[in-house]
Amino acid sequence: MTQNTVFKSDDIKKAAAALRKLRPAYSEILDFYEKLFVSQEDSKDQIDIAPIQISDEMLAIKAAEKLPLINPDDFVIEFGAASKLCKTVCETAKSANQHLAQSAQTLLDAIDNDLDLKTMFPHLLQASTAQIEEAAKQLNIEQNILAFFIYSSMNPSIKLCAEQLSVYLDRQDPWQQGYCPICGNPPVLSILEDEGKRSLICSFCWHSWPVKRGLCPFCDRHDSKSFNYFFSEEENEYRVYTCDNCKKYIKTIDNTKTDRLIYPPLEQVVTLHLDMQANQKGFESGLKESILI
Ligand SMILES: [Zn+2]
Ligand SMILES: [Zn+2]
Repeated sequence: MTQNTVFKSDDIKKAAAALRKLRPAYSEILDFYEKLFVSQEDSKDQIDIAPIQISDEMLAIKAAEKLPLINPDDFVIEFGAASKLCKTVCETAKSANQHLAQSAQTLLDAIDNDLDLKTMFPHLLQASTAQIEEAAKQLNIEQNILAFFIYSSMNPSIKLCAEQLSVYLDRQDPWQQGYCPICGNPPVLSILEDEGKRSLICSFCWHSWPVKRGLCPFCDRHDSKSFNYFFSEEENEYRVYTCDNCKKYIKTIDNTKTDRLIYPPLEQVVTLHLDMQANQKGFESGLKESILI
């Protein structure tokens, strides 16, 4: 079975308010990301995309070959909504994020001067690093910042497509791989639930899928000896699983240790200290090669 929790703006606001109390050091970051994620969910509510169709024959091939349902560049982006959201994201960054403010203004100016965003979206979906790099150079914006703005603008279309596609997964045997069954990207977080259940969350389309507890999603090894975790007593709802085999880590939310409403994209941004701790222990992010990082 697949799991798809659909979040609304109010859920994000509630989740952000709870986190702000719990982790005041992240208040500024939360202010920015709360606005960003609310504008993405609001945009998603307004878009209309015809579901991607996959034939039974193709579905059988994908399942047999352990291939995801689509390639990331198959995602359908509603261009009008993504362009509008791009401006909103830039405006939000200008007022709430010092680090991004200058680049946001540069991108807004470029859009006013007829920058063709339509060419940017496929570059990012195809993870064409060279083309993003070239575009970033021309715009005089850091490459990862440009990728962040473009991805943030496409995120509602990507999530909607993934939700629509997830119905196909219910027709297949349970997916046991460490990469996303929808788009093949690596997970950004994992979630522990009651009765030892564990899910991974895709770093690109945010689809969530159940996997075995001891599986390292990055090297596919299932070995409780090499797959360990650390956590701190002060925030025992978080664990960081580390793999001695591939030296990667994945941040994990233990849902059995908290009653808070968990909105995964917010959890990802308020746990930067855990990334640092994992790095200090010699482990690297499983998203290291991702164009979004
Ligand atoms: Zn995915
Ligand atoms: Zn591993």
